[in-house]
Amino acid sequence: MTDINISDMLTSYDKKNLTIATVCSHSSLQIFDGARKEGFKTIGISVGEKKRFYDAFPLGRPDEFFIVDSYKDILKYTEELREKNVIVIPHGSFVEYLGADKFLKLELPTFGNRNVLLWESDRKKEREWLEGAGLTMPQEIKNPKDIDRPVIVKYHGAKGGKGFFIAKTYDEFKKRIEKDKPFTIQEFVMGTRYYLHYFYSPIQDNAYKLSKGSLQLLSMDRRDETTIDEVQRLGSIAELEEIGIHPTFVVTGNIPIVMRESLLPKVFEMGASVVEKSLELFDGVIGSFCLETVVTEDLEFKVFEISARIVAGTNPYIAGSPYSELIQPDLSTGRRIAQEIKYANKKDKLEEILT
Ligand code: AMP
Repeated sequence: MTDINISDMLTSYDKKNLTIATVCSHSSLQIFDGARKEGFKTIGISVGEKKRFYDAFPLGRPDEFFIVDSYKDILKYTEELREKNVIVIPHGSFVEYLGADKFLKLELPTFGNRNVLLWESDRKKEREWLEGAGLTMPQEIKNPKDIDRPVIVKYHGAKGGKGFFIAKTYDEFKKRIEKDKPFTIQEFVMGTRYYLHYFYSPIQDNAYKLSKGSLQLLSMDRRDETTIDEVQRLGSIAELEEIGIHPTFVVTGNIPIVMRESLLPKVFEMGASVVEKSLELFDGVIGSFCLETVVTEDLEFKVFEISARIVAGTNPYIAGSPYSELIQPDLSTGRRIAQEIKYANKKDKLEEILT
C-alpha cells in the first residue's frame, strides 16, 4: 500500500504551473504530445543522457529532459521534481524500471490509484478481482499432471511474455519447464485477441455512467508477438515443435484493430463491472486500464490479464482511434490523461485522481 498523503504533497504545488512527467520509454511520445496539446509543460526522465531519437519527433519530445544515473535514483530527486510541480504519469516500463516497492513509495503526485498494483501483480488477487466482477478467465490448471489440452505456462513476474511456452501434454511440460521458477498454467484459449483500452473517470459523468463517474472506450489493439505471430511462415507450430523450434510470446509492437459493433455492449459491461468491483475492493482503478481478452468462436470473452495504467497498445492512436474520434477528434489516451488532470485541477479535485 502507498501511505503517501496526496493532499499534503500538493500543498506546496503551484497549481497554475503543473508539469507532466514520465520516463522516456513505452508510451512517452504519446504522453508528451497529449500533455502539450492540453497546455502542460513536460519533463522526460531519462537515464544517463537524453535520448537522441526524440529530436526527430518535435511534438513528442519533452520540453525538458531530467537526467538520472539509474531509474532507481528517481527517489533521490523527488524534492527537485516537486519544485517543478511534477505530476507523474506511470506506464508499464516506469513501474518495471523503478520496481513496485519504490513506485509505491515515490513521493510525487502520481496519476491513478497506485494501490491497484497489489491487485494486479498478484495472480491470485487479480483472479479474485476479475472473477469477482463476473468476468470469465482462462481456467487455471493447478497440477501439471492434469494437462489434457493445450496450455500456456507463464512464469511469475515475466515481462512482455518472456519465457512463456505452450504445452499440450504433461511430458511436454516436463521437458520445457525451468526448475525453481514459480509458474502458472492456464488453458490456452483458442480465439482472436483484443486488448481493450478503457478510461475511467471518477469525477466526470459524460460517458458510460457508473455508480460513481463514467467509463470510456478509447481504442483497442492486438499485440504483435515474436515468434508466435509469424512462426507459421516456416511451417505449422506442431511441425516446428517436433524439431525443437518453440514459439515465444515476446511483444515487439501493436496492431490497430476494431471489433464487430455487436460486441461493444459486452465490452462496456465488462469494463464497468471491473471498475465497480475495484471501487468495492480498493478505491477504484482510476484512469486508463486495459483488459487483455480472447474472443472464442461462441463470441465469449475470456480475460487473461488486466493492466491498470496506459498500455503501449494505445500508441497507434496518437491522432485518435475509430472509437475516440467519436468522443473528440485527435484524442489519444495520453491526451485524455492530460485532460483529466486539467479538469480535476480546475474543479479542485486533484486528490480524487492522484495518489
Ligand atoms: P500476458 O503476459 O499474460 O499478457 O501473456 C502474453 C501473451 O500470451 C498474450 O499477449 C497472449 O498472446 C498470450 N496468452 C496469454 N494468456 C493466454 C491464454 N490463456 N490463452 C491464449 N493465449 C494467451
